[in-house]
Amino acid sequence: MANYGAHVVNFGANVVIRPAKVFLPRSEAELLQLMTEHRGRPMRAVGRLHSWSQLLETDGVVFDLRHFNSVRVNSDEMGPVLTVGAGSQIKHVLAQLDRQKLTLPAIGLISEQTLVGASATGTHGSGRHCMSHYLTAVRIAGYDATSGKASIREIREGSALRAASCSLGCLGIITSIQLRPRPQYFVEEWLTMHGALNAVLSLEEVSPLQQFYFFPWSWRFLGQHRREVAKPKTWLAPLYHAYWFLLVDVTLHVALRTLVRTLRSNRAIKAFYRYVVPGTLIRGWRVIDKSHRMLIMEHELFRHIEIEMFVKREKLEKSLNFVRELLMAFDGDLSAINHATRAQLEKHGLMAEIEEAAGCYTHHYPICIRRVLPDNTFLSMASGTDESWYALSFISYAAPSDRSGFQRFANLLSRSMIAMFDARPHWGKVCPLTAKEAERLYPHWGDFLLQCQEFDPAGNFQNDWLRRLISPCDDCSN
Ligand SMILES: Cc1cc2nc3c(=O)[nH]c(=O)nc-3n(C[C@H](O)[C@H](O)[C@H](O)COP(=O)(O)OP(=O)(O)OC[C@H]3O[C@@H](n4cnc5c(N)ncnc54)[C@H](O)[C@@H]3O)c2cc1C
Repeated sequence: MANYGAHVVNFGANVVIRPAKVFLPRSEAELLQLMTEHRGRPMRAVGRLHSWSQLLETDGVVFDLRHFNSVRVNSDEMGPVLTVGAGSQIKHVLAQLDRQKLTLPAIGLISEQTLVGASATGTHGSGRHCMSHYLTAVRIAGYDATSGKASIREIREGSALRAASCSLGCLGIITSIQLRPRPQYFVEEWLTMHGALNAVLSLEEVSPLQQFYFFPWSWRFLGQHRREVAKPKTWLAPLYHAYWFLLVDVTLHVALRTLVRTLRSNRAIKAFYRYVVPGTLIRGWRVIDKSHRMLIMEHELFRHIEIEMFVKREKLEKSLNFVRELLMAFDGDLSAINHATRAQLEKHGLMAEIEEAAGCYTHHYPICIRRVLPDNTFLSMASGTDESWYALSFISYAAPSDRSGFQRFANLLSRSMIAMFDARPHWGKVCPLTAKEAERLYPHWGDFLLQCQEFDPAGNFQNDWLRRLISPCDDCSN
C-alpha cells in the first residue's frame, strides 16, 4: 500500500482526490496482478501530480509507478534508443543522458514531471514539437479483449501509437516509453524588450527556440531569445544562472506573492510591471550553456495555478489584443472591449457574463508565449495541422482559497478564445473543455475515441470528466 494519506493533492492544490486505494507496484507482474484483482473498478495512473486539470480525479484505484524508474540507452542501426520507466522524472532522465553526451529532443520549463506523465498531456517547451510527438514505442497494461485478463501490449506504430503518445491516461497504465535522444547541444540566450508583437516575432528566424512574455499593465514584450549554437559554454554562465535564480525565480516571485497575497493591492501590481520589473532585466547579455541548463527554470518553487491556450500564428495578434481587452475588463474597465470584440462576444452569448465579472480579477503574471511545432499525435494541442501553434499561458499566485477571480477569468477566457479563435486549452492545465468543443477543435478526435474503444471498451481507465468528454450522453449539454 502507498504511503499516501486519505487524500492526494496535486501541485497546484486545486485538485484533491480521494481514491479507494493507492498502489505503488514494483514490477509489471505485480501491476498486472493488482489490475486482475481490481478488475471492473475505475483506475487511473499518476505521475508527479503536476497537472492542474481534472485528468487526475478519481475515486477508484490509483497506480503510482514511481518504482518504475529505470532509464536505459541502447542502440540500433539508426542510433541510440532511450527506454524510460513510467516513474522516471525528466530531471533524472536528463542527468543520465548528459553523462552520455545526449539529451531529450524537447523539454518544458521544469523537469520535475515524469516523462510519461508529461507526454500524456502534450507537455511542450518552445520551438520544438511537444514531448509526445517524439515517442516511438509505448508499453501499456490493459485488459485482454477475449480473456479479460490484465496484460501488457507494446505499441510501435500507426493509430495506436498516435493515440498512446498523448493518451490522457485513457488507454491503460503505461509502464515504459521509448524515444530517440539527440546529441547534447548548446543554447545561446539573450533578453530584449519590444514594443510590438511583430518586433519580437521577427527575431524568430535567428532565435528559433525563443519564448517571450507579454507584460500585463505595461503591455510590452520581453523576448527571451534562444538558439542552438556550435560554441562552448560562456565562462559567465554560472553567474547568469545565479542572477536568474536569485532575482527572477526567487526575489521577483516573493515580491509578487506579497503584492497579491498580503498587500492585495492592484495599483501596486500595475506599478510593479510598469516601473520595477523592467529595471531588473539585464538586456543584451549573451550567455551560452548546455541545452537543459538554459531551457529549464525553477518555476516549481512557489505554488501556483495555470491555464494555457494554443492558437495558430494567423490568430496570435488578434488573440493577444483580445487578451489585453479581457484583462482590462476583468480589472473593471469594460470600455477596453472594443465594438468588434463586443459584437463577437454577444454573438457567442458571453458578453453579459464578462460584464458581471468586471472588477473581480486583476491579472498579475507575465503571459508567456511559446511556439510549438505541429505534432504527429491525435490529441496534443499542436496536433492535426501542419502549422505551428503558439501557447499563451496565464498564471495566478493567489492563495488556493482566494482563486475564485482567476477561475472565473480562466473559464471565460477559455470559452471566448475557443469560440473566437478556435483556441485549444492545454490538457494538463486548467482545462474547461466540453465534448462538443473537443470534437470541433481536434480533427483526430474520432480516431482517438476509436482507440479508447479498442483499448478500454469498458471505460475502466476514464474518470467522470473524461467520460463526459469521451462518451457524452445524447441529450446532455456538453
Ligand atoms: C510548475 C509547473 C511547470 C510546468 N511547465 C510546463 C511546461 O513548460 N510545458 C507544458 O506543456 N506543461 C508544463 N506543466 C504541466 C505538466 O508538464 C503536465 O501537467 C504534466 O502532465 C505533469 O506530469 P506529471 O508527471 O506530474 O503527471 P500527472 O500530473 O501526475 O499526470 C498527468 C496525466 O498523465 C497520466 N499518467 C501519468 N502517468 C501515467 C502512466 N504511467 N500511465 C498512464 N497515464 C499516466 C495521468 O493519468 C494524467 O492524466 C507544468 C506544470 C507545473 C506544475
